Amino acid sequence: MGLEEAAKAWYDKWADQCPLIAFIRPRNIRDAGLSLYSRLHNIRNGSNWLWPVAWFDLFPVLIDLPHLQLNNSSDKLIWKDNNASIILFSTWGVWNIIRKREQEVPWYKIVWFSQCILCHSFLMWLILQRKLKTQDQMMRWGGGGNLNMRLLCCSLCQRGPDSHNHLFFECDFSQQVWSGVKGLAGMSNVSEKLEDIMDWLMVRAKSRSVRSVIGRLLVAATTYYVWQ
Ligand SMILES: [Zn+2]
Repeated sequence: MGLEEAAKAWYDKWADQCPLIAFIRPRNIRDAGLSLYSRLHNIRNGSNWLWPVAWFDLFPVLIDLPHLQLNNSSDKLIWKDNNASIILFSTWGVWNIIRKREQEVPWYKIVWFSQCILCHSFLMWLILQRKLKTQDQMMRWGGGGNLNMRLLCCSLCQRGPDSHNHLFFECDFSQQVWSGVKGLAGMSNVSEKLEDIMDWLMVRAKSRSVRSVIGRLLVAATTYYVWQ
């Protein structure tokens, strides 16, 4: 639908002076034989306005209404970007304009790729930033409440507090899990150390090869289930 059919004559902002209902009262509109529900094309005939000529004295602001050049093209949603240029509106475009940008991290392709499983990737994202609430971190915060931090120990092996490196996959239990699955992704030679695993993934992260994708999927899934 074009602007003339779509825009409500009195209520929409189709010019700087709008909405006209801000200063033209409903009674004025009815007295002029026009409808409150008029669309823009109902109050125009070519380039002439269909309201009484006296309105230009009553409401001088009408004199300054722009000479609208309307065509039959459809309405478009637009948006002003950071350079004040008008662009077509899209949620993708707007998000890119308003979002905060950080330096690109070298490991992002290990975490985010088109075949990734989002809940697994989210956990990988936390792990790579060492943001999981592991016991070594909790001990650093100090004891609060009734929790005795010295009693914390890994629930998989009970051999002292867990940490990112311990869980992925130096812990006796998770090391067995890792040994069991790594061959499936051709990673048999990769040790159980998180750094070694990330190094292996990093050099292949930008590749779309099956091996690279499976490697990333496998590491993400394994860490996910160990953490669970
Ligand atoms: Zn353990």
